[in-house]
Amino acid sequence: VKERGGNGYELFHSEMEAKSLERILLENELRKAIQLGQFHIDYQPKMDLSKNKIIGMEALVRWYHPELGKIPPNKFIPVAEETGLILPLGEWVLRRGCMQNKEWQQKGYPPLMISVNLSVRQLAHPYIVEKVREILEETKLEPQWLELEVTESILADVGHAADTLQQLREMGIHISIDDFGTGYSSFSYIKHLPVDTLKIDASFIRDIHKNEESQAIVQAVLTLARTLDINVIAEGVENEEQLAVLNEDGCVQGQGFLFSKPLSGEEFEKYLIEFAEI
Ligand code: C2E
Ligand code: CA
Ligand code: CA
Ligand code: CA
Repeated sequence: VKERGGNGYELFHSEMEAKSLERILLENELRKAIQLGQFHIDYQPKMDLSKNKIIGMEALVRWYHPELGKIPPNKFIPVAEETGLILPLGEWVLRRGCMQNKEWQQKGYPPLMISVNLSVRQLAHPYIVEKVREILEETKLEPQWLELEVTESILADVGHAADTLQQLREMGIHISIDDFGTGYSSFSYIKHLPVDTLKIDASFIRDIHKNEESQAIVQAVLTLARTLDINVIAEGVENEEQLAVLNEDGCVQGQGFLFSKPLSGEEFEKYLIEFAEI
């Protein structure tokens, strides 16, 4: 170890230091940003593929840091999850998203479902059900217009998760399993979970028009969902070839750059005017 170790160890050590420094920096900035309200939400349309009609939107959090610029969610959400900052941040997204959806409804646009991502950490929080109820009461959004997207990682504590999801669902909120197919044993546990929708992970959609295995997986999910009477939505639909396969296989809902990238509130409203039948 000694002969070849010196440099290797130092390199390793300083890499670790750099990594944790970046993390600490990010954590501090995240904390400040939550206090200062440096976040906003983009909304990505969800479509009925057979009618080419908008059916809802996913709320995606955005962080624009005054000096560091745009920081992508894949960078700061994991830090927020590790540090617990996802609790205040996630609560803000939920409140702001519900408020915005209600506002659009009051302006006379056809009512749409808003989907909000809920991290495992939030779902595991003992007061999550009360919190969601409180936000709905506060914003006066009816529960049928709210969907919560949770990932398969809720399986870590599936008993507790199922119980919480059941309570949320009894309130009239929809539950969707995000990134479906990427976790383990997706198929066997799904019948035990109270869910309305399976959101097929973008990785299967990416090559669905070129790869028989991906298409077979999507078809299997569609069959499973039909049997269990669950909705399916495909995420990451980027081109017409993918759309054609999805239509052929009977996948009715989709989301992706082919229809629209995530839009600011203002842009989304313009999209509504163009796309919703008013
Ligand atoms: P996700 O929930 O799977 O969200 C979908 C991601 O795919 C979004 O990335 C979206 O912009 C992107 N996307 C949409 N259509 C396409 C497409 O056609 N092609 C490709 N290549 N990508 C597409 P984004 O906004 O960067 O978010 C990344 C992840 O960060 C999300 O993945 C979600 O896990 C997390 N996230 C975002 N907002 C929130 C939030 O408010 N709360 C929590 N807990 N997580 C969030
Ligand atoms: Ca999602
Ligand atoms: Ca997803
Ligand atoms: Ca994803």
